[in-house]
Amino acid sequence: MVYSSLQSPDNRSYDFELRTAHLYGDLLNTYGDNGNVLMLKYVGEKLGARMTFDIVSMGDDFDADQYDLIFFGGGQDYEQAIVAKDLPHKKDQIADFIEKGGVGLAICGGFQLLGHYYIQADGTKIDGIGVMGHYTLNQNQNRYIGDIKIHNDEFNETYYGFENHQGRTFLSDDEKPLGKVVYGNGNNQEDGTEGVHYKNIFGSYFHGPLLSRNANLAYRLVTTALRRKYGSDLKLPSYQEILSLEVPEEYTDVKSKAEFDQ
Ligand code: GLN
Repeated sequence: MVYSSLQSPDNRSYDFELRTAHLYGDLLNTYGDNGNVLMLKYVGEKLGARMTFDIVSMGDDFDADQYDLIFFGGGQDYEQAIVAKDLPHKKDQIADFIEKGGVGLAICGGFQLLGHYYIQADGTKIDGIGVMGHYTLNQNQNRYIGDIKIHNDEFNETYYGFENHQGRTFLSDDEKPLGKVVYGNGNNQEDGTEGVHYKNIFGSYFHGPLLSRNANLAYRLVTTALRRKYGSDLKLPSYQEILSLEVPEEYTDVKSKAEFDQ
């Protein structure tokens, strides 16, 4: 049953409305990924939008036309295998949402399952729905765990996070990374990429959750969704006006530069 897990309060007025489908929100929430939803709500309300979040999970129909945003969290191999069985049923609507320019964020396990396949730690292959071009291999008795920093050259933005995954993801030619690795492992420790950016869909291995620590990316997602729905020339308050907090670098960048220069 699709149900709203979170809604903006009724006792104020809004200029806009955004609806988010929280895919498998009752199953996938590694290291507080659901905090991304709280951040989308916070930023949306700052921009004058009434925000609604629906859990769309096992056995539910996902109707692309009902939603402006999707959020898909991460999970351990066990939960991921359960979700993978249900996903094909939603594949066409998710593909439609993505190809029409719908805005979304997928973390870790969710990111992997939007691609072609994921090889679990024990070697079992799980099919993704292949609505994006990447695929994910396993690795031998190892996980990528730790703090990570990346830079997105197109947006000239830096993102900080914490990664914990065994999967090694490889992007397709039509996918860009979310950023280039400054320190940490990223998608696969080989090609210096982290996450994905395809049309208006973003994927990442960052937990913690990603958007709470990177309000610039939260602002990008919400403003992209608002302009897609209300017009590309929609005037909105700048990031600096509503979110800039002047956090000292030592609170954000947990690894000192000196440590990584060695
Ligand atoms: N189970 C997957 C992996 O280990 C995804 C992990 C996650 O979502 N944190 O790669």
